[in-house]
Amino acid sequence: MEEAYFAKQLMDWYQKHKRRLPWRHTKNPYLIWLSEVILQQTRVAQGLPYFHKFVQAFPTIYDLAAASEQEVLRLWQGLGYYSRARNLHACAKVIVDQYQGKFPESYSELLKLKGIGVYTAAAIASFSFNETVPVVDGNVYRVLSRVFGVKEDIASGSGQKKFRQLAARLVPKGQADVYNQAIMEFGALQCTPLTPACLLCPLNTMCYAYEHGKQRELPVKVKRLKIKQRFLHYFVIRQNGSLWMRQRVGKDIWSGLFDFYLLESSADKTLENLMENEQIMQFLTQKGVSIEVSKVYKHQLTHQQLFIIFYIIDIAETCLAGTLIAEQQLKMFTKEEVKNLPKPILINNFLYEEIF
Ligand code: SF4
Repeated sequence: MEEAYFAKQLMDWYQKHKRRLPWRHTKNPYLIWLSEVILQQTRVAQGLPYFHKFVQAFPTIYDLAAASEQEVLRLWQGLGYYSRARNLHACAKVIVDQYQGKFPESYSELLKLKGIGVYTAAAIASFSFNETVPVVDGNVYRVLSRVFGVKEDIASGSGQKKFRQLAARLVPKGQADVYNQAIMEFGALQCTPLTPACLLCPLNTMCYAYEHGKQRELPVKVKRLKIKQRFLHYFVIRQNGSLWMRQRVGKDIWSGLFDFYLLESSADKTLENLMENEQIMQFLTQKGVSIEVSKVYKHQLTHQQLFIIFYIIDIAETCLAGTLIAEQQLKMFTKEEVKNLPKPILINNFLYEEIF
């Protein structure tokens, strides 16, 4: 049968070609969960050091649950999507408080946990508990669409449903742990987005894309992302070598991380434009204030393109910054303290390039 042949070819391929990765030698759901959440953010090579750092700092789920949010965000720094780190932390607390530190052992129970979606629930349920559920990530979409000629949009609800149904039919009973790893690894190494190694592929005799020369067209993904441009002006207020910073709150990007006094404008503005604000003008034109303007830093997020300028503002002890400080609840930190605060990677890079 086609399904059985497909699964067997993948698993045979996997035994020969799989990479040695730390989370592949364990059934421990905590380690599998950590690795999957980290790998949703980045590729294996970049994710590996994060995995090791997390395991070293929090060897068990009890250690992660007992950590402060600041410690978790600090270790996550550079991975982006900080809400995932906060969800990871919150979920660890729930598992410790409500499940006595033990992960639920089924896909449907795992799905009830905040921050665990269908992908992660399927990964934990199959890799740790060998439940027969399919794991469907970008690699899996690619392999399935090419081999079986599925032309549905993978970003649409109906497309995802169709892929999920097909994926579910293909998982061999009792072998979900190996099979799911195999198909994801196959997509990552063999059936890659731009240069799939079709000539040496064990599935080429049954592959629709190979037969019809459609590798570049599959999978189909209709882009709907609207990218918003934002212009951020940061006042890096420095006094006696210490920096005034604040912790971001609310639903915007980087919540929980530390940044500086921020002015946001709808378009590209200069310092002169910003000084049209009387309060800013009074602050910047005081005696004892000196200003250095950085280059423009560009930073791409999934839905946003950021243009960021840092104004490094040295102020003498006699200067008044009270209104600005109160307005955005800034606090003073020494350089050493700043190094240990969780920060967006762009701000971290700026600090190491221009301040430390
Ligand atoms: S033949 Fe090519 S496109 Fe088809 S599964 Fe193999 S690598 Fe992917």
